[in-house]
Amino acid sequence: MRQPRVVVVGSANMDLVATAEALPRPGETRLGTDFVMVPGGKGANQAIAATRAGADCAFLGAIGSDSFGVTLKARITAAGVDTGPLRVTYGPSGVALVMVNAAGENAILVTPGANASLTDLTEAELDLVRGADVLVAQLEIPVETVTQAAVAAREAGRRVVLNAAPALPMPPELLAAVDLLVVNENEAQAYTGRGREDPHALLDLVPRAVLTLGAAGAWYGDREGTAVHLPAVPVAAVDSTAAGDAFTGALAVAWGEGRDLVDAVRWAVAAGAACVRRLGASVSLPHRAEIDELYPAP
Ligand code: ADP
Repeated sequence: MRQPRVVVVGSANMDLVATAEALPRPGETRLGTDFVMVPGGKGANQAIAATRAGADCAFLGAIGSDSFGVTLKARITAAGVDTGPLRVTYGPSGVALVMVNAAGENAILVTPGANASLTDLTEAELDLVRGADVLVAQLEIPVETVTQAAVAAREAGRRVVLNAAPALPMPPELLAAVDLLVVNENEAQAYTGRGREDPHALLDLVPRAVLTLGAAGAWYGDREGTAVHLPAVPVAAVDSTAAGDAFTGALAVAWGEGRDLVDAVRWAVAAGAACVRRLGASVSLPHRAEIDELYPAP
């Protein structure tokens, strides 16, 4: 199997995660218990996920000129991702302020920072996209940029995987350039008004779609008439953060390797399961060997 070239165009955030007994109310100051700082953002997570799943992966995103940007780049590079294409823009990096209470509930404030400045891709950046076996994108950067990248990849005959999260309006040019859409149930509801009772509705938007179903696994369907439900791999779930990112990264790798899509989704389901076994976001993204271990060969 040839190592696929995956290019991820998307967001990078520094996640600042503080835990406390209870979340503070407006105007209140509380003492917390713990603090960690971890790289996040769906773009960075999916680039790390694809790299660990076995891709030669480049990440096109934007970080700020602050110390978070320096740390983000170092951490993403250390994960093996080619961060050469990362833009550094003057101003703050994207930041997610996360507060978690003892019940595991959270309150999250995301400021996009540099992610919002990732617009007007240059010819060199578009060439990078055109050189991918698989382009992977999400909607945490300006949708015009996602559209520009997807159209370039599509015109070059490359595969375009869009994890359309968070749910936002998508222009028709973007949908027309998507080969494979990946959404969870909330997103499917937002785009089609239908959830797991009618995943086929997604095929009105794109030729191939995956609906991820958490502990129920995933559905895959295409306009050629394939429609399958792949059950989840049973694991002791600890934290579902980034399961969707592990899933999408692994899916892009398997498809780029030339596996058929049903099998690629089956492998991605194993990647999601491997991710939920561990606490944390980017730190819990699984390596190829762990995915293979859980992969339920047909
Ligand atoms: P998101 O994190 O984007 O909401 P999901 O929660 O649907 O996405 O999770 C993505 C994938 O991860 C699922 O399709 C499934 O394969 C896997 N997964 C999620 N939760 C579990 C779980 N509790 N047990 C096993 N696999 C899971």
